[in-house]
Amino acid sequence: MAKHITDDQMKEQRGYIMRLREDNARYAAEYGHTRRALTETYGCQQNENDTERIRGMLRDAGFEFTDDMKNADVVIYNTCAVRENAEQKVFGRLGLLKPVKERRRNMVIGVCGCMVQQEHITEKIKKSHEHVDLIFGTHALYKMPELLYKAINEKKTVVDIAESDGAIAEDMPIMRDDAKKAWVSVMYGCNNFCTYCIVPYVRGRERSREPKAVIAEVKELVKNGCSEISLLGQNVNSYGKDLKTDIDFADLMRMVNDIEGVERIRFMTSHPKDLSDKLINTIAECDKVCKQLHLPFQAGSDRILKQMNRRYTKAEYLAKIEKVKKAVPNISLSTDVIVGFPTETNEDFEETLDVLRKVEFDNIFSFIYSRREGTPAAKLDFVLTDEEIHKNFNRLLEVQNEISLKKNKEYVGRIERILVDGVSKTNPEMLSGRCDSSKIVNFKGTDDLIGKYINVRITEAHTWSLNGEPVKEN
Ligand code: SF4
Repeated sequence: MAKHITDDQMKEQRGYIMRLREDNARYAAEYGHTRRALTETYGCQQNENDTERIRGMLRDAGFEFTDDMKNADVVIYNTCAVRENAEQKVFGRLGLLKPVKERRRNMVIGVCGCMVQQEHITEKIKKSHEHVDLIFGTHALYKMPELLYKAINEKKTVVDIAESDGAIAEDMPIMRDDAKKAWVSVMYGCNNFCTYCIVPYVRGRERSREPKAVIAEVKELVKNGCSEISLLGQNVNSYGKDLKTDIDFADLMRMVNDIEGVERIRFMTSHPKDLSDKLINTIAECDKVCKQLHLPFQAGSDRILKQMNRRYTKAEYLAKIEKVKKAVPNISLSTDVIVGFPTETNEDFEETLDVLRKVEFDNIFSFIYSRREGTPAAKLDFVLTDEEIHKNFNRLLEVQNEISLKKNKEYVGRIERILVDGVSKTNPEMLSGRCDSSKIVNFKGTDDLIGKYINVRITEAHTWSLNGEPVKEN
C-alpha cells in the first residue's frame, strides 16, 4: 500500500503557507503592491495538474498572478523530462531571466518537476544558472510552501530532489484552470520501464490513491459546478494493484459514473498490455464515460516493441483494438507513436504505418525519439540517419492526416453534444468546444454559451477540427 504524507507533515506546510501570507502582507505594506507569481508548465496533464496545486499553494499564501516575467516576484517553471526540446526551452527561459533578476535582486526563481528530479540536470542548473533560487523534484511538491519560504527569507539556493518511491499527499490546495472540467489524478508513477522512458525514474513506482479520496475530490468538484472529469494516471489500468481493497480502475470508473452531477468521464493513459475486457465493457456500459480511448502503440515492428520493453506484439495490439471496436462501436481512438527509435529500419517503420492504416485512429500524437540519459535505449545505436528519420516522420503525418480527415468527414451531418470551452484558438470569431469523442468543434455563437453543453450540427470537416452550427433545443 502506498505511503501517505502524514497529517502532521501537511499541517507543517499549512503553517508555512500562513508564514508566507504574513510575509506577503508586510511586503505589500512596504512596496504598495502584492507579490506576483508566474507559473509555466511543460509536459503532460500530470504536470498541468501539479501546477494547479502549485498555484493553489501560492494563492493561499497571498500571491497574485502575472504572465509577465518582468513583473513577477516569484517565477516557477514546472518542467518535463520526457523529451529534450522541453528541457532546452526551460534552459532558454532561465537564460532570459538572468538580466531580469540582475535588475530585481529580490526576485525568486524556482524550477521543479521531472527535469530536476534528474541529478545531472540539477547539477547543471546549480553550476551554470546561479540565479536560480529554488529547485525541487516531483516528490517534494507538497513541501513547496516551506521551500519557497526558505528561498525568500534565507537568501540561498534551496534544493530538494530527494529520491523516493513516492508518497501520496492528499488535501493540498488547488487552483483549477477550468470551472467545468478537471483533471483528477487517481495514481502516480509507473512500473513499466519502457526502455526509452524517463518517467519511472523521475516519478517513482506506481501508487494508487484510495478510492474514497478520489470520490471525495470528484464530489467536491461537482459541488463547485464542474461536470467533466478526466481521471489521470501514467497507466490507469494498474490502478488499485497496490491497494488493500480489490477495487480496480474499471470499478473506480463505475463509482465516478454513479456520482450525480458528473456529465462526462474521460481517462488516460492506458497501457495496451493491461487493457482488460472488464475495462472495455465498462467503457461500453457506463453512460457518462466518453466513447474515446487513447491507447499508445508506439511502434508497429515486433522487434522494436521488444526493444522498447512494451510487452505486446503488433498482432496482440491489433486484436485488442478489434475487441474495443466490437464492444464500443463508433469509439474514437487515439495513440502515441515514436519514430526513429534506435535500431529502427525503414522496414520496421513500414510496420508502424501498417498499424495506422489498419486501426484508422482519429488522431495520433507522434514524436521523433528523444534520447534520455539513464534509460536503457540511450545505449542503443541508430540505423537510420536524421534525414531518414525526419522523412519517415513526415510520411507518418501524411498518412495520418488523410485518415483523420476521413474520420472527421464521417461526422458531417451528425448532431454532437459539446461543452463550450471559449473562443476558438484558430478563429477568434468563433467559439469552440469538444464533443464526447474529444474532437474540437468550432461554431458561431454568443459568449453566454461558454461553459454550457449544447447540441451542434456538424457542417464541415477539417483534418484537426470540425465546424458546426448550434441546434435549437425544442
Ligand atoms: S508505460 Fe512506459 S511510456 Fe508510459 S510512463 Fe510508463 S514507462 Fe513511460
